[in-house]
Amino acid sequence: MNDRLTSLLANREWLLADGAMGSNLFDRGLVSGDAPELWNVEHPERIADLHRRFIEAGADIVLTNSFGGTRHRLKLHRAEDRVGELNEAAARIARGEADRAGRPVLVAGSMGPTGEILEPLGSLSAAQAQAAFAEQAAALARGGADVLWIETMSSVEETEAAIAGARSTGLPVVATLSFDTNGRTMMGITPADLARLAERNHLAACGSNCGVGAAEVVASVVGVANAAPGATVLVAKANCGIPRYVDGAIRFDGTPELMADYARLARDAGARIIGGCCGTTPEHLAAMRAALEGYSPGARPDGAAIEAKLGAISTGASAQLRGETSREAGAANGASSRRRRGGAAGTVKS
Ligand SMILES: [Zn+2]
Repeated sequence: MNDRLTSLLANREWLLADGAMGSNLFDRGLVSGDAPELWNVEHPERIADLHRRFIEAGADIVLTNSFGGTRHRLKLHRAEDRVGELNEAAARIARGEADRAGRPVLVAGSMGPTGEILEPLGSLSAAQAQAAFAEQAAALARGGADVLWIETMSSVEETEAAIAGARSTGLPVVATLSFDTNGRTMMGITPADLARLAERNHLAACGSNCGVGAAEVVASVVGVANAAPGATVLVAKANCGIPRYVDGAIRFDGTPELMADYARLARDAGARIIGGCCGTTPEHLAAMRAALEGYSPGARPDGAAIEAKLGAISTGASAQLRGETSREAGAANGASSRRRRGGAAGTVKS
């Protein structure tokens, strides 16, 4: 029997994933420094409400409120002994809303980085990381997750530890990296590297999330698509514009129109699962759903096509799109990724 993700993908050209968890919880009263995962037991109705709004906006996949749910991240909040409780609650809340939708909605158990650096650069062993992810994944599975969704990763070692941990549940596994450093992850991984990682680990889907804006995410999805076998299911989950620091808080300035353009370009790039990351509200998601309904994807966009709609991409990502994959090709001026910070012309507020 097929898993629910495979079944849904067999009947649909594309699926809409949800928008942001963290930034929308800040709008609902979460204070910087608090663990969002504690809200799964302290304010479950607020988490359920956000899931419901994303489902009403058209989401086919909702991600659980468990991004920081490994014991290493929860340790910062003295909650390392509550991994099972908090992750199971996260999945149960999402499951409840998904099952009320009246159409198939999948629950994806979100798993983010441990916050530790793995050996040999850091002190956490691959085995310790895998055990921590397995502990989290088991709880998400108990709570009713359909798929485990590893996101915002930057190192191969930690991604593979998370995949191995997630795999122990028997559920399908998706992994997305954050290509936020001149076309690479913070640890130097390229989109082409991810294509190879996904193939060798038999991922259900792989792609790009978060980072430095929608243009850069679309560029990285093109990078994965160019290097991956044709049947690979690709994921795009871009932030809603570029993060800016305003009055001591992080703000995202992408408009629903920008996110609609992004959704269509992500389809052109080859993504079959499209959602939003930080800053993406249910209103943005509804615009993305409307943009994708009935849309026939065009050719895989080049750098110029992406920049025309979504703003500048980094020199590193541009070089990769031209087929220049060496670090030198894109490293000449990494600073240009910070220039003309994203957003279609006219939508940028400064
Ligand atoms: Zn994000």
